[in-house]
Amino acid sequence: MAAAETPAPTNFIRNIIDEHNKNGRFDGRVVTRFPPEPNGYLHIGHAKSICLNFGLARDYQGRCHLRFDDTNPAKEEQEYIDSIMDDVRWLGFDWGEHLYYASNYFDQLYEFALKLIRGGKAYVDDLSAEEIRAHRGTLTEPGKDSPYRGRSVEENLELFTGMKDGQFPDGSRVLRAKIDMAHPNLVMRDPTLYRIRRVIHHRTGDKWCIYPMYDFTHCISDSIEQITHSICTLEFEDNRALYDWVLNQLEVYHPQQIEFARLNLEFAVMSKRKLLELVKDGHVDGWDDPRMLTIRGMRRRGFTPASVRLFCERIGVGKKESWIDMYWLEKAVRDDLNPKVPRVMGVLDPIKVVLTNYPEDQEEFFEAPFFPDDPPAMGSRKVPFCRELLVERDDFMEVPAKKFWRLAPGREVRLRWAYFITCDEVIKDADGNIVELRCTYDPATKGGDAPDGRKVKGTLHWVSARHGVPATVRLYDRLFTVPNPDADKTRDYKEFLNPESRVDMPGAVLEPVLAEAEPDTRYQFERKGYFYVDPADSAPGKPVFNRIVTLRDSWAKIVEAAKREAAAQARAAKKKKKQQKNKG
Ligand code: ATP
Ligand code: MG
Repeated sequence: MAAAETPAPTNFIRNIIDEHNKNGRFDGRVVTRFPPEPNGYLHIGHAKSICLNFGLARDYQGRCHLRFDDTNPAKEEQEYIDSIMDDVRWLGFDWGEHLYYASNYFDQLYEFALKLIRGGKAYVDDLSAEEIRAHRGTLTEPGKDSPYRGRSVEENLELFTGMKDGQFPDGSRVLRAKIDMAHPNLVMRDPTLYRIRRVIHHRTGDKWCIYPMYDFTHCISDSIEQITHSICTLEFEDNRALYDWVLNQLEVYHPQQIEFARLNLEFAVMSKRKLLELVKDGHVDGWDDPRMLTIRGMRRRGFTPASVRLFCERIGVGKKESWIDMYWLEKAVRDDLNPKVPRVMGVLDPIKVVLTNYPEDQEEFFEAPFFPDDPPAMGSRKVPFCRELLVERDDFMEVPAKKFWRLAPGREVRLRWAYFITCDEVIKDADGNIVELRCTYDPATKGGDAPDGRKVKGTLHWVSARHGVPATVRLYDRLFTVPNPDADKTRDYKEFLNPESRVDMPGAVLEPVLAEAEPDTRYQFERKGYFYVDPADSAPGKPVFNRIVTLRDSWAKIVEAAKREAAAQARAAKKKKKQQKNKG
């Protein structure tokens, strides 16, 4: 199991556990579980839950179970089960021998249902789904008893056994808990426990034609596995009453359910339905598209498990719904990669530089450390230099803007590790496009410093045009252009897809050492960001680089503007309301 990167900050869940450990409620045991439904790929929200559950188990010397909540057979597939296990392991967590399936408990669940019926606590209802809904009442009105609510224990036992034995068509009857149709908590108005569905289950085959509902299954699974703290998201707060009711009626071991606020991340969507839609409609290149905040996608993008854990630790857990700015995820990635990743040079959108005073047949090699902040420790490589070089097109401006300190006509800049150069002449093609810069270098500045102490403001990265290697480079960025693509309910979230979330750089040329870059390794291209050698698309000698993240946050202004606009809209709406009120 992964070690904590920083001492885990305390939170309300830890306080509850500490209290239990003090009062002996669970004899000092801590057993949590991560219970995914195998109906989709895991995403960054699940990562929060995984880090929380496995992290608590690690810190309290307890254990965390992986339990597939597979009670909804029509939607579940083996592919998802395999990917979920792989993704949890990738995150650095291990359930050991504690892998479970809710479907393993179908026999026990059935016995527990019989026990409830015998105790007069459950009944078979013949109402249709719509009728049940209509009988349910509302927050302000009590529900109505079903006419079948008064059935005898014997009749209920016979009918429920009949349901199991396939005597009734799908949807014709359900088993319901007998609680209170006037209960102020709607969840407690005789919730359904079992329904009839003739579907093949991926693990139990055609053994069952009745399947238990989530609320019945989950608490009993927790109880069977001797879970101590059953941690779930806030929308299950109302369901806690039912969780406790079922276990109390059955008089079995009773874990504590605790709710926390789910992760909401700006510039992302996280619902399984939307993620599926993005994949199916081809807005992204599959579940592992580097722009998707699925764990698959983050892996393919080049995020490290440590960076995802760091993010989850930093955002913490609370009881209040909130939105996390994408900046924090990207910052965790930068903070994790910065000390770990070697620095190299690559020119993504090149323009040619010819050094007119550098001999045609000469070349030299500069020893450049992979970790300039700690050169001896981490090694170096030789960077070739010659008369023809490539620099970034946007590192040159013919008419330099204010505060642009890089190359311009007549201006001197430093080439990283090499020499000072001065731009003498701009060569254009017939259409007026700049195709070449003619420069002179100062041999006295070898290594990048002037002996006379003269300073330059700009330092450029560069690649030798003769020695550089062309490579496939893909720049990935946020998938949406606005912080909350779901905010405006009159518009589709897909209208806010970022057309520049993937930009290919067909002209990119990298320093030669990168020709042999191994798949699944990472580099910082100086001034351009962190890059990952894509394990799926790279071939020997032909690495494909995915940009993981830029070096600095370029979205802050956009976020600020969006927030200002939202605030202005809210003010305008308030003003309008006030005016209408004054009129009326
Ligand atoms: P759905 O409700 O669409 O089926 P889900 O996101 O609830 O999907 P599950 O497979 O049921 O998916 O989730 C497994 C666990 O992950 C649950 O315990 C759930 O609370 C947790 N989880 C899911 N989304 C988030 C999120 N955004 N933040 C924190 N935890 C989450
Ligand atoms: Mg769920």
